[in-house]
Order: sequence, then structure tokens, then C-alpha cells
Amino acid sequence: MSPVRRCSRSACGRPAVATLTYVYADSTAVLGPLATYAEPHCYDLCAAHSQRLTAPRGWEVLRLAPDPATLGPSSDDLEALADAVREAARPAPPGEGDAALEVGRRGHLRMVPSADA
Ligand SMILES: [Zn+2]
Repeated sequence: MSPVRRCSRSACGRPAVATLTYVYADSTAVLGPLATYAEPHCYDLCAAHSQRLTAPRGWEVLRLAPDPATLGPSSDDLEALADAVREAARPAPPGEGDAALEVGRRGHLRMVPSADA
């Protein structure tokens, strides 16, 4: 029941293979496995556009899946990480900012235990 996801770049109708998530608080663009469903901070990209991805000046690109074509059954960890990134990218109301992924202040992402149980 999942519709075919398309690349979000204009004039590109190829199937999306990866999802780009902007973590504004950390100036990091995270390219990971295709998201389960679209979110405001996420952009689906086809293989060609994900490989040609360039970040805005001053931004860092974190690739969770350098070659989406080789993604296999063992991508669960990557998907979990990507989900955590998307969770962190989602704007949180004041006082509820402790997302599953804590974004460091030096351009690095690190996993913390999820409280979403
Ligand atoms: Zn494309």
C-alpha cells in the first residue's frame, strides 16, 4: 500500500532511494535510507541526486549509506539511526527537546538511548 516515492528535485521523476534530512541545529545534512514516510525536514532523492549531493556552505554532509544500491537486509541499524536523526530534526516544543538523538555542538552526531518506549 506504499506509493512509489519520487525524487524531490524538480524535473526529476526517478524513484527515490534515499532521504535527505536537514539537522538545522547542527548544520548537518544527513543522507540515509529512504524514510518510511515523508516529514517536513526530509527530502527524497534518487540515486543520481543523492550521489551528487552537495551541502550548503558551512554545512556538513553525513552519509549513512554511501551507496544506496548496496543496501541489504542488514540495514536495520542504518534505518534506526536515520529515524533517530529525523526525530532530532523535528522541531520540539520548549521543554521537550530531548530527542532520541542528541546533537553535539561540534558538528558530530552521537546516539543516545531512546526514551521512546
Ligand atoms: Zn533525482
